[in-house]
Amino acid sequence: MIVVMKPGATTEQVQHVVDVVRDYGLKEHVIFGTDRTVVACIGDKRMVDKGAIENAPMVERVVPILAPYKMASTEVKKDRTIVKIGPEGFPIGGNRIGMIAGPCAVEGREHIIRLAEQVKAAGGVGLRGGAFKPRTSPYSFQGHGVEGLKMLAEARDRTGLAIVTEVVGVDTLPAVAEYADVLQVGARNMQHYPLLEAVGKVDKPVLLKRGITATLQEFLLAAEYIIDAGNQQVILCERGVRTFEKYVRNTLTLSMVPALKAETHLPVVVDPSHGTGHAYMVPAMCRASVAAGADGLLVEVHDDPEHAMSDGAQSITPQALQEEMPVLKRIAEAVGRSM
Ligand code: PEP
Ligand code: MN
Repeated sequence: MIVVMKPGATTEQVQHVVDVVRDYGLKEHVIFGTDRTVVACIGDKRMVDKGAIENAPMVERVVPILAPYKMASTEVKKDRTIVKIGPEGFPIGGNRIGMIAGPCAVEGREHIIRLAEQVKAAGGVGLRGGAFKPRTSPYSFQGHGVEGLKMLAEARDRTGLAIVTEVVGVDTLPAVAEYADVLQVGARNMQHYPLLEAVGKVDKPVLLKRGITATLQEFLLAAEYIIDAGNQQVILCERGVRTFEKYVRNTLTLSMVPALKAETHLPVVVDPSHGTGHAYMVPAMCRASVAAGADGLLVEVHDDPEHAMSDGAQSITPQALQEEMPVLKRIAEAVGRSM
């Protein structure tokens, strides 16, 4: 249920509603919108006297939230959430579209710094790269761990790019949170509920990737875990799902972009690298993502894809990124955005 306050309600009047809601044993989340404040109430509402809350000073109305994901839903919050990332606070979810690019895994100090400089020169706002890698095989390269995080931090210091890096478990979260600007929760971990709750308690943006078999509802309920734990800075990432089609690594379901934007106020970015598995398809799917309304892109970039330690086949070169950016800018402008 949401309690919609009238425009101009004072902090005391909002607090009064919060007190009443707590008296009913409900948990509240107060959302300050551009013209009005709403108090979202989560919990068992059977004993709640809706009329009593409606009579409180400056309450406009009390309405049920029909979606199973409450805090993530556009029913609760109409204005789009903007998540600011990195030292320069680039806003993801506003008019500007952000390019986040970098290798699948952090491979070495000079390498990541060089790639960071190339991503920055191309107009990127974030540097991606895993220091802790969730690999399908236990014998594959697992990442450089904390050393990799330090390399990312150095690359940030040199370029000002926001560091987006994966957190694979609750045990390594403190280390990742110390160095990262954005905590990436990978597709494999989308339903790792203790991890979702843990990143929900950290004051850092979270990039939540869609699970390989997750429905829109499961995806948004995963986001709900993070918000319910106290962190509203959630960026959703569509990265394709597994289907019968073997020609591509995953089937990139771009129809999820408008669907998510209708259902949630959270920003939506697209990862065409994992979404296709093939570098040659990445530019076309970047273009389609921007046209479909994505707020950002997450792209794998490598200067020697043939020798990449992971995901070389789906990594475009820095030069390809550089060439792609002006095209994406033109598409962004055609749909009333900027890049
Ligand atoms: C990645 O971004 O490198 C990654 C492992 O992605 P996903 O979790 O989407 O498979
Ligand atoms: Mn990868």
